[in-house]
Amino acid sequence: LAAPNTFAGEALDRAGPQRRDEAWLAARVADPESRVVAASEAGVVVAGERPRLLAVDELPDGLELVLLGVDRDGRAIFAADPGDAFPGERRGLRDLAPVLSQADGGMIAHAVALLNWHRRHRFCANCGAPSESREAGHIRRCPVCGTEHHPRTDPVVIMLVHDGDRAILGRQAHWPPGRYSALAGFVEPGESLEEAVAREVREETGARVDEIAYRSSQPWPFPGSLMLGFIARWTSGEPAIGDGELEDVRWFTREEIASGSVKLPPRQAIARRLIEDWLGREAPDTGGGLAPNRPARSS
Ligand SMILES: [Zn+2]
Repeated sequence: LAAPNTFAGEALDRAGPQRRDEAWLAARVADPESRVVAASEAGVVVAGERPRLLAVDELPDGLELVLLGVDRDGRAIFAADPGDAFPGERRGLRDLAPVLSQADGGMIAHAVALLNWHRRHRFCANCGAPSESREAGHIRRCPVCGTEHHPRTDPVVIMLVHDGDRAILGRQAHWPPGRYSALAGFVEPGESLEEAVAREVREETGARVDEIAYRSSQPWPFPGSLMLGFIARWTSGEPAIGDGELEDVRWFTREEIASGSVKLPPRQAIARRLIEDWLGREAPDTGGGLAPNRPARSS
Protein backbone atom coordinates (compact mmCIF):
# COMPACT_ATOMS: atom_id res chain seq x y z
CA LEU A 1 0.00 0.00 0.00
CA ALA A 2 1.36 3.42 -0.94
CA ALA A 3 1.93 6.01 1.78
CA PRO A 4 -1.23 7.92 2.71
CA ASN A 5 -1.68 11.43 1.38
CA THR A 6 -0.95 14.39 3.66
CA PHE A 7 -3.79 14.93 6.18
CA ALA A 8 -4.49 11.17 6.22
CA GLY A 9 -2.53 8.68 8.33
CA GLU A 10 -3.60 9.65 11.82
CA ALA A 11 -2.13 7.15 14.31
CA LEU A 12 -5.01 7.30 16.81
CA ASP A 13 -7.58 4.61 17.54
CA ARG A 14 -10.77 6.60 16.92
CA ALA A 15 -12.50 4.76 19.80
CA GLY A 16 -15.92 4.80 18.12
CA PRO A 17 -17.62 2.45 20.61
CA GLN A 18 -16.47 4.54 23.60
CA ARG A 19 -17.99 7.79 22.31
CA ARG A 20 -21.36 6.90 23.88
CA ASP A 21 -19.87 5.67 27.17
CA GLU A 22 -20.43 8.66 29.45
CA ALA A 23 -18.51 7.17 32.39
CA TRP A 24 -15.48 6.39 30.21
CA LEU A 25 -15.57 9.88 28.73
CA ALA A 26 -15.84 11.60 32.11
CA ALA A 27 -12.85 9.59 33.34
CA ARG A 28 -10.83 10.59 30.25
CA VAL A 29 -11.69 14.27 30.71
CA ALA A 30 -10.58 14.03 34.37
CA ASP A 31 -7.40 12.06 33.52
CA PRO A 32 -4.30 14.28 33.85
CA GLU A 33 -2.66 12.24 31.06
CA SER A 34 -5.35 13.17 28.49
CA ARG A 35 -4.33 15.77 25.91
CA VAL A 36 -6.09 18.35 23.76
CA VAL A 37 -5.30 19.68 20.27
CA ALA A 38 -6.39 23.32 20.41
CA ALA A 39 -7.39 25.07 17.21
CA SER A 40 -9.35 28.24 16.60
CA GLU A 41 -10.18 29.92 13.32
CA ALA A 42 -6.77 31.62 13.46
CA GLY A 43 -4.96 28.25 13.38
CA VAL A 44 -3.64 25.35 15.39
CA VAL A 45 -1.85 26.07 18.68
CA VAL A 46 1.70 24.84 18.12
CA ALA A 47 4.98 24.28 19.90
CA GLY A 48 7.49 24.93 17.12
CA GLU A 49 6.45 22.79 14.18
CA ARG A 50 4.24 20.37 16.12
CA PRO A 51 0.73 20.77 17.49
CA ARG A 52 1.02 21.66 21.16
CA LEU A 53 -0.81 19.00 23.17
CA LEU A 54 -2.40 20.67 26.19
CA ALA A 55 -3.66 19.11 29.41
CA VAL A 56 -7.42 19.51 29.86
CA ASP A 57 -6.90 21.86 32.83
CA GLU A 58 -4.78 24.24 30.73
CA LEU A 59 -7.93 25.15 28.79
CA PRO A 60 -10.78 27.42 29.89
CA ASP A 61 -13.38 25.68 32.09
CA GLY A 62 -16.48 24.35 30.39
CA LEU A 63 -14.94 24.25 26.92
CA GLU A 64 -16.61 21.70 24.64
CA LEU A 65 -14.21 18.81 23.99
CA VAL A 66 -14.47 16.49 21.00
CA LEU A 67 -12.78 13.10 21.18
CA LEU A 68 -10.29 12.34 18.41
CA GLY A 69 -9.25 8.97 19.82
CA VAL A 70 -6.72 7.15 21.95
CA ASP A 71 -2.99 7.21 21.20
CA ARG A 72 -0.49 4.32 21.41
CA ASP A 73 0.23 5.15 25.05
CA GLY A 74 -3.46 4.83 25.91
CA ARG A 75 -3.94 8.58 26.33
CA ALA A 76 -7.21 10.09 25.18
CA ILE A 77 -6.68 12.88 22.63
CA PHE A 78 -9.37 15.53 22.35
CA ALA A 79 -9.76 18.65 20.23
CA ALA A 80 -11.22 21.97 21.32
CA ASP A 81 -11.60 25.52 20.05
CA PRO A 82 -10.45 27.83 22.85
CA GLY A 83 -11.11 30.95 20.73
CA ASP A 84 -8.69 33.29 19.02
CA ALA A 85 -7.92 35.09 22.31
CA PHE A 86 -6.40 31.96 23.89
CA PRO A 87 -2.63 32.49 24.29
CA GLY A 88 -0.09 30.57 22.21
CA GLU A 89 1.48 30.58 18.79
CA ARG A 90 -0.85 29.45 15.99
CA ARG A 91 -0.21 28.22 12.51
CA GLY A 92 -2.58 27.46 9.68
CA LEU A 93 -2.87 23.95 8.32
CA ARG A 94 -1.54 24.80 4.87
CA ASP A 95 1.48 26.44 6.41
CA LEU A 96 2.11 23.45 8.70
CA ALA A 97 1.48 20.71 6.13
CA PRO A 98 5.03 20.50 4.71
CA VAL A 99 6.69 20.11 8.13
CA LEU A 100 4.29 17.78 9.96
CA SER A 101 4.75 14.06 10.40
CA GLN A 102 2.17 11.89 8.66
CA ALA A 103 0.50 11.07 12.00
CA ASP A 104 0.41 14.69 13.22
CA GLY A 105 -0.95 15.85 9.85
CA GLY A 106 -3.73 13.29 10.08
CA MET A 107 -4.50 14.19 13.67
CA ILE A 108 -4.77 17.94 13.14
CA ALA A 109 -6.77 17.50 9.93
CA HIS A 110 -9.20 15.36 11.96
CA ALA A 111 -9.32 17.99 14.72
CA VAL A 112 -9.77 20.95 12.38
CA ALA A 113 -12.43 19.27 10.22
CA LEU A 114 -14.48 18.28 13.27
CA LEU A 115 -14.11 21.72 14.93
CA ASN A 116 -15.03 23.44 11.64
CA TRP A 117 -18.21 21.39 11.52
CA HIS A 118 -19.20 22.28 15.10
CA ARG A 119 -18.47 25.96 14.47
CA ARG A 120 -20.74 26.03 11.41
CA HIS A 121 -23.55 23.81 12.73
CA ARG A 122 -24.62 25.36 16.02
CA PHE A 123 -28.29 25.29 15.06
CA CYS A 124 -30.59 22.48 14.02
CA ALA A 125 -30.93 22.45 10.23
CA ASN A 126 -34.42 20.98 10.62
CA CYS A 127 -36.09 23.44 13.05
CA GLY A 128 -33.53 26.17 13.79
CA ALA A 129 -33.18 25.54 17.55
CA PRO A 130 -29.67 25.54 19.11
CA SER A 131 -28.27 21.99 18.90
CA GLU A 132 -26.09 20.20 21.47
CA SER A 133 -22.88 18.24 21.06
CA ARG A 134 -23.28 14.54 21.96
CA GLU A 135 -21.25 11.34 21.70
CA ALA A 136 -17.99 13.13 22.45
CA GLY A 137 -18.62 15.62 19.66
CA HIS A 138 -19.44 13.12 16.92
CA ILE A 139 -23.07 14.15 16.58
CA ARG A 140 -25.13 17.25 17.35
CA ARG A 141 -28.60 16.59 18.68
CA CYS A 142 -31.54 18.97 18.60
CA PRO A 143 -33.30 19.11 22.00
CA VAL A 144 -36.49 20.49 20.41
CA CYS A 145 -37.23 18.16 17.47
CA GLY A 146 -34.83 15.32 18.34
CA THR A 147 -32.99 15.31 15.00
CA GLU A 148 -29.42 14.01 15.14
CA HIS A 149 -26.95 15.76 12.85
CA HIS A 150 -23.76 13.95 11.80
CA PRO A 151 -20.45 15.60 10.87
CA ARG A 152 -20.33 16.46 7.19
CA THR A 153 -17.64 15.38 4.79
CA ASP A 154 -18.12 16.93 1.35
CA PRO A 155 -16.78 14.78 -1.50
CA VAL A 156 -14.74 16.52 -4.19
CA VAL A 157 -13.48 14.67 -7.26
CA ILE A 158 -10.04 15.66 -8.55
CA MET A 159 -8.86 14.15 -11.81
CA LEU A 160 -5.89 14.07 -14.08
CA VAL A 161 -7.16 13.94 -17.67
CA HIS A 162 -4.61 12.65 -20.18
CA ASP A 163 -4.32 11.17 -23.65
CA GLY A 164 -1.14 9.22 -22.98
CA ASP A 165 1.48 11.84 -23.86
CA ARG A 166 -0.29 15.00 -22.70
CA ALA A 167 -2.38 16.00 -19.67
CA ILE A 168 -4.99 18.73 -19.25
CA LEU A 169 -4.23 21.13 -16.40
CA GLY A 170 -6.08 24.28 -15.42
CA ARG A 171 -5.55 27.24 -13.15
CA GLN A 172 -7.84 29.28 -10.91
CA ALA A 173 -7.37 33.05 -10.96
CA HIS A 174 -6.46 33.28 -7.24
CA TRP A 175 -3.59 30.77 -7.47
CA PRO A 176 0.05 31.88 -7.50
CA PRO A 177 1.18 33.02 -10.98
CA GLY A 178 2.11 30.13 -13.27
CA ARG A 179 0.51 27.43 -11.07
CA TYR A 180 -1.48 24.76 -12.90
CA SER A 181 -3.16 21.71 -11.43
CA ALA A 182 -5.59 18.88 -12.00
CA LEU A 183 -9.28 19.65 -12.52
CA ALA A 184 -11.62 19.34 -9.52
CA GLY A 185 -15.20 19.83 -8.45
CA PHE A 186 -17.82 18.93 -5.86
CA VAL A 187 -19.86 15.77 -6.24
CA GLU A 188 -23.55 16.62 -6.58
CA PRO A 189 -26.49 14.80 -4.98
CA GLY A 190 -27.66 11.77 -6.93
CA GLU A 191 -24.41 11.40 -8.83
CA SER A 192 -21.79 8.64 -8.86
CA LEU A 193 -18.13 9.62 -8.53
CA GLU A 194 -17.49 8.60 -12.14
CA GLU A 195 -20.39 10.77 -13.31
CA ALA A 196 -19.05 13.69 -11.29
CA VAL A 197 -15.61 13.31 -12.93
CA ALA A 198 -17.10 13.27 -16.44
CA ARG A 199 -19.46 16.20 -15.73
CA GLU A 200 -16.83 18.42 -14.13
CA VAL A 201 -14.37 17.84 -16.97
CA ARG A 202 -17.08 18.63 -19.52
CA GLU A 203 -18.27 21.77 -17.69
CA GLU A 204 -14.82 23.17 -16.99
CA THR A 205 -13.13 22.36 -20.30
CA GLY A 206 -15.61 20.97 -22.83
CA ALA A 207 -13.60 17.74 -23.04
CA ARG A 208 -15.03 14.21 -22.84
CA VAL A 209 -13.37 11.35 -20.95
CA ASP A 210 -13.61 7.63 -20.32
CA GLU A 211 -11.52 4.96 -18.52
CA ILE A 212 -12.13 6.81 -15.24
CA ALA A 213 -10.12 5.06 -12.51
CA TYR A 214 -9.85 5.81 -8.78
CA ARG A 215 -6.34 6.32 -7.37
CA SER A 216 -6.34 7.61 -3.78
CA SER A 217 -8.02 10.12 -1.49
CA GLN A 218 -7.07 13.01 0.78
CA PRO A 219 -8.90 14.61 3.71
CA TRP A 220 -9.12 18.33 2.90
CA PRO A 221 -10.37 20.16 6.00
CA PHE A 222 -11.05 23.53 4.30
CA PRO A 223 -13.60 23.35 5.85
CA GLY A 224 -14.61 19.69 5.50
CA SER A 225 -13.92 18.07 2.15
CA LEU A 226 -12.59 14.72 1.05
CA MET A 227 -10.62 14.85 -2.20
CA LEU A 228 -11.18 11.72 -4.28
CA GLY A 229 -8.40 11.32 -6.83
CA PHE A 230 -8.99 9.87 -10.30
CA ILE A 231 -7.21 9.48 -13.57
CA ALA A 232 -9.28 9.69 -16.77
CA ARG A 233 -8.53 9.25 -20.45
CA TRP A 234 -9.44 12.07 -22.83
CA THR A 235 -11.59 11.02 -25.77
CA SER A 236 -12.69 14.24 -27.52
CA GLY A 237 -13.09 18.01 -27.24
CA GLU A 238 -10.13 20.43 -27.24
CA PRO A 239 -9.84 21.97 -23.75
CA ALA A 240 -11.22 25.51 -23.48
CA ILE A 241 -12.45 27.57 -20.52
CA GLY A 242 -15.98 26.39 -19.82
CA ASP A 243 -18.05 27.43 -16.82
CA GLY A 244 -15.77 30.27 -15.69
CA GLU A 245 -14.25 28.42 -12.74
CA LEU A 246 -10.85 28.33 -14.42
CA GLU A 247 -8.78 31.23 -15.71
CA ASP A 248 -6.92 29.00 -18.15
CA VAL A 249 -6.95 25.36 -19.16
CA ARG A 250 -4.75 23.60 -21.69
CA TRP A 251 -2.68 20.61 -22.64
CA PHE A 252 0.79 20.13 -21.18
CA THR A 253 3.22 17.59 -22.59
CA ARG A 254 5.14 15.16 -20.42
CA GLU A 255 8.30 17.11 -21.24
CA GLU A 256 6.82 20.43 -20.12
CA ILE A 257 5.70 18.92 -16.80
CA ALA A 258 8.90 16.94 -16.18
CA SER A 259 11.14 19.92 -17.01
CA GLY A 260 9.61 22.20 -14.39
CA SER A 261 8.35 24.75 -16.92
CA VAL A 262 4.92 24.58 -15.25
CA LYS A 263 4.50 25.28 -11.53
CA LEU A 264 2.77 22.28 -10.01
CA PRO A 265 1.03 22.11 -6.61
CA PRO A 266 3.34 21.13 -3.72
CA ARG A 267 3.96 17.53 -2.65
CA GLN A 268 1.32 17.75 0.10
CA ALA A 269 -1.49 18.01 -2.49
CA ILE A 270 -3.13 14.94 -4.00
CA ALA A 271 -3.07 16.74 -7.37
CA ARG A 272 0.72 16.53 -7.37
CA ARG A 273 0.57 12.81 -6.68
CA LEU A 274 -1.91 12.22 -9.52
CA ILE A 275 0.32 14.15 -11.91
CA GLU A 276 3.50 12.34 -10.86
CA ASP A 277 1.80 8.92 -10.95
CA TRP A 278 0.89 9.59 -14.57
CA LEU A 279 4.31 11.03 -15.34
CA GLY A 280 5.95 7.96 -13.80
CA ARG A 281 8.51 10.08 -11.95
CA GLU A 282 8.85 13.01 -9.61
CA ALA A 283 8.50 16.45 -11.14
CA PRO A 284 10.83 19.26 -10.05
CA ASP A 285 9.79 21.56 -7.21
CA THR A 286 9.01 24.97 -8.58
CA GLY A 287 8.08 26.67 -5.31
CA GLY A 288 4.85 27.94 -3.82
CA GLY A 289 2.75 26.69 -0.95
CA LEU A 290 -0.46 24.76 -0.71
CA ALA A 291 -2.98 26.85 -2.64
CA PRO A 292 -6.60 26.93 -1.59
CA ASN A 293 -8.23 24.45 -3.92
CA ARG A 294 -11.74 25.82 -3.88
CA PRO A 295 -13.86 24.30 -6.56
CA ALA A 296 -16.95 26.45 -6.96
CA ARG A 297 -20.34 24.95 -6.31
CA SER A 298 -21.33 24.66 -9.93
CA SER A 299 -24.72 25.97 -10.90
ZN1 LIG B 1 -34.55 20.63 15.60
